[in-house]
Amino acid sequence: MRERAQLVYDFADGDRSQTDLLGGKGANLAEMTRLGLPVPPGFTITTEACRHYLDRGEEPQSLRVQVTMALRRLEDGLGRRLGDIQDPLLVSVRSGAKVSMPGMMETVLNVGLNDYSVKGLAEAAKDERFAWDSYRRLIQMFGRTVLDIPSERFEDRLDAVKTREGATTDVELSPAALQGLVEDFKDIVSDATGRDFPQDPREQLDMAMRAVFDSWNTDRARIYRRRERIPHDLGTAVNICAMVFGNMGEDSGTGVCFTRDPATGKQGVYGDYLVNAQGEDVVAGIRNTLSLEDFARLDPASHAELTRIMRRLETHYRDLCDIEFTVERGKLWMLQTRVGKRTAGAAFRIATQLVDEQVITRDEALTRVTGHQLAQLMFPQFDADAPRTLLTKAMAASPGAAVGEVVFDSATAVARAAEGRRVLLVRRETNPDDLEGMIAATGVLTSRGGKTSHAAVVARGMGRTCVCGAEEIDVDAEAKVLRVNGTTIAEGELLSIDGSTGEVFAGELPVVPSPVVTYLERGLDAALEGVDEEAADLVRAVDRLLRHADRTRRLAVRANADNAEDATRARSLGAQGIGLCRTEHMFLGDRRVLIERLILAEDPPARDAALAELLPLQRADFVELLTAMDGLPTTIRLLDPPLHEFLPDRTELAVKVAVAKATGDGVSADDERLLAAVERLHEANPMLGRRGVRLGLLVPGLYGMQVRAITEAAAERALAGGDPRVEIMVPLVGSVMELHLIRDEIDGIVADVQAAAGVDLDIPIGTMIELPRAALTARRIAESAEFFSFGTNDLTQTTWGFSRDDVEAAIFAAYLEKGVFTVSPFESLDRDGVGALIRTAVEKGRETRPGIKLGVCGEHGGDPDSVHFFHYAGVDYVSCSPFRVPVARLEAGRAAL
Ligand code: ADP
Ligand code: MG
Ligand code: MG
Repeated sequence: MRERAQLVYDFADGDRSQTDLLGGKGANLAEMTRLGLPVPPGFTITTEACRHYLDRGEEPQSLRVQVTMALRRLEDGLGRRLGDIQDPLLVSVRSGAKVSMPGMMETVLNVGLNDYSVKGLAEAAKDERFAWDSYRRLIQMFGRTVLDIPSERFEDRLDAVKTREGATTDVELSPAALQGLVEDFKDIVSDATGRDFPQDPREQLDMAMRAVFDSWNTDRARIYRRRERIPHDLGTAVNICAMVFGNMGEDSGTGVCFTRDPATGKQGVYGDYLVNAQGEDVVAGIRNTLSLEDFARLDPASHAELTRIMRRLETHYRDLCDIEFTVERGKLWMLQTRVGKRTAGAAFRIATQLVDEQVITRDEALTRVTGHQLAQLMFPQFDADAPRTLLTKAMAASPGAAVGEVVFDSATAVARAAEGRRVLLVRRETNPDDLEGMIAATGVLTSRGGKTSHAAVVARGMGRTCVCGAEEIDVDAEAKVLRVNGTTIAEGELLSIDGSTGEVFAGELPVVPSPVVTYLERGLDAALEGVDEEAADLVRAVDRLLRHADRTRRLAVRANADNAEDATRARSLGAQGIGLCRTEHMFLGDRRVLIERLILAEDPPARDAALAELLPLQRADFVELLTAMDGLPTTIRLLDPPLHEFLPDRTELAVKVAVAKATGDGVSADDERLLAAVERLHEANPMLGRRGVRLGLLVPGLYGMQVRAITEAAAERALAGGDPRVEIMVPLVGSVMELHLIRDEIDGIVADVQAAAGVDLDIPIGTMIELPRAALTARRIAESAEFFSFGTNDLTQTTWGFSRDDVEAAIFAAYLEKGVFTVSPFESLDRDGVGALIRTAVEKGRETRPGIKLGVCGEHGGDPDSVHFFHYAGVDYVSCSPFRVPVARLEAGRAAL
């Protein structure tokens, strides 16, 4: 570090743009000072000083000197000296990172008091009680936050004195009682630390400053940063602020207020005020607070000034502000402001209110809401008014409100769901075998694993509600019971889980659907029916902002949907087409035997027979799909997964055959043949094996049959007067040769079908880009591909060499912990690696074929951060699961601003 670096800024020297250096609190204190608002003077020690301290274990040399200089300026300005024995200056030492962060050290107030200056303070204020009260607060706060002494030790002592004195609140304590308490508190400090409470004011200040620095690395702070994806190397600033006193009697007090309601977004001001109190008392809830209306009656002048300042701040920040203030003997002081946090609903309402008030533009309003917030508003919610019994609280892994009968295994989940019952799958942890159960369940609850555990990742992927890592729950799958904090719940009993809060409730809580989803699916009028004014206002706000996003965005948004039902839903949610129809789901259930027969066919006639049976079924699937998507592009992917997924489980089959042999029951020839085939097709690494285009090239007739079914379906639709816009997509291509070969086969079929049907169809044939080699050789591949669709799930797997099904549970928790990445690359696109391949492929593809259509069909297509990347990378559309479509629309609009 440059030793001359400026490490300390007076409030009068900074402004709100400097949050990196001064932290949020410091920058806004400076901004309010600049605006001429009544802020007590002070200075900010920069985050750079903190980073230096954390890196080297000591402060930069010049920091001491710079703090001395700033302190002298402060003292000279006020005509008082820190901790002087007469009329002492006192300061607060306040942490303040760039983003506000629970888990950081809080504030130490009244720094500068000691056995002498407390008397000077009493004399200057002509108030003994006040002076001793301030001193006991200093020792208490300093002891707790700087010296790490358990706060109960102080609180217990305070309670004991209150009881002895017959006082119900701390304001009733006499000066003598408070003075006695100070002595007790000092004893607690020496007892706990082996040292006396530091009497030197500057030492108090330096120790508090260092404690703030150190608190950056507490476990709580680190966990919070990891969860919120805040980098660990920002560091925190420290604000030193001259004290003003809300505890100087009945004409003093302290409070917090908001310029709008941060919970609902309702217009008007909201706040709490506490008479004769210091900062932390308001939130501590030790005495009843007054409303702002009461404050207005009590102190009309201060209230009027506060109202004026609130309006000023909202105009200046052009957003909801949250404010902390103190009144000292009738004089109002501003102690903090920031653009306030708000709920998702409030964000949408406030953004549109500000547009209506002509304070911000519509574009700005769009920057004030996020796709994450919209997603939150789409989940059903538990009725807030219903009575509830909380059993435990764990990680909110995938939002939503789910109620169901508890089941402990996948098979039971599937069986009961088939009977039309709602089930909640409860597992210690899940693995790929639980997939069907997860699909069948309304929600998933696990007792182990974090936000990147299998359960969490899969549940989020399919939009299932999930609470994970509920360690207080003991899951006994054998006995089919779970035990939690003394309650036992057996299979079949009802539980409710809230995936937005991580709460687990006994029994069934009533769920209310989100009016936002009603709006998205059925339009504004339907959504406004019978809802209260607040909900109506919210729905209108969502409507306005989403429509503005649609006007603004360049990216088109399509959906991943495999059947007509999902397609219809996607369409109503605003999808402009289907970017990925997976055909593998069409081969499950009853049809599995047919594909099994195809795979096992020993000669061409047997194979053709199997294909002939599959063809009409596939065609019917596609007719339905193209009917639902009439007039919109529909990309159908040819069969992709490894063949063995359509065959019986190898071990089970082997056991069956072995048992039959051992018992002499005679093995069926079919089973033996089947086992031989399963063994022949077994792959150690199926995700890198016989799948994708390789299937098309190795299983004669398979892709041909699919292409015929697609083309015939399109022809049928066209002849019926429809407008089918089908696109055929070949998966897992790594070399242009693969595509050439497969096109030789399928182009002929497309032409034949058209000729036979007598229709002219335009069916583009393209490829997925999901292997690094495909991205790197995109120039060649574009010779044969009429469009590209980036399969970012597989591209992430193959770029990182991570097997998606295995690593998330096994490796990611540790990787997130160690900071290899701050978010799973399967959740949010890895811009540096996978993103670089995408950029390359975009560029090379366009060199060969300037008008080539480029899309994205991995789940990243619905991830807010990734959508911004795709916008900048220049692709034409993103495609994601239907319920993510509105999120992608909103984010694509934001990205285009
Ligand atoms: P937090 O980040 O937890 O809000 P603050 O630094 O804002 O912590 O301090 C909490 C409270 O302490 C403030 O709201 C205010 O009431 C009180 N406080 C802080 N500094 C001063 C001061 N200089 N004079 C009076 N009260 C203060
Ligand atoms: Mg504060
Ligand atoms: Mg793929």
